[in-house]
Amino acid sequence: METIFTKIVKGEIPCYKVAENDRFFAFLDINPLAKGHTLVVPKNATDYIFDIEDEELGAMMVFAKKVAKAIKANYPCQKIGMTVIGLEVPHAHIHLVPINGVNDIDFRREKVKLTDEEFKEIASKIAHSIE
Ligand code: AMP
Repeated sequence: METIFTKIVKGEIPCYKVAENDRFFAFLDINPLAKGHTLVVPKNATDYIFDIEDEELGAMMVFAKKVAKAIKANYPCQKIGMTVIGLEVPHAHIHLVPINGVNDIDFRREKVKLTDEEFKEIASKIAHSIE
């Protein structure tokens, strides 16, 4: 299946890349709830996250864990909140958002406006902290 996120993974659409391995890809959400809001996707597109085969889903979570640690190292917060919505883009993705309270991960909130430079700096900082 070809999705906007598949095009991002292939480099056909630009993104602020944070990390990748052979199977997964992480990049900044373009309409973030907070600085550091990152999306983790499997390179192989599946619409619904719970249709992903067990081993792949487990590996996706381990990859998300690494990314979450790198976000937290740069954007101090109580925790990195994790959510899956998936109503907009039919390519399973995990949202990782720095949070200090439940309201910080409320998608009805006004999003943070960032410049191209700010997005680049955030992505670079997180990318350099990936272990
Ligand atoms: P949902 O499918 O409901 O989880 O929402 C899709 C999310 O993807 C939203 O938070 C969007 O801001 C984000 N998004 C959509 N297109 C892009 C893109 N080209 N680059 C980065 N994030 C995107």
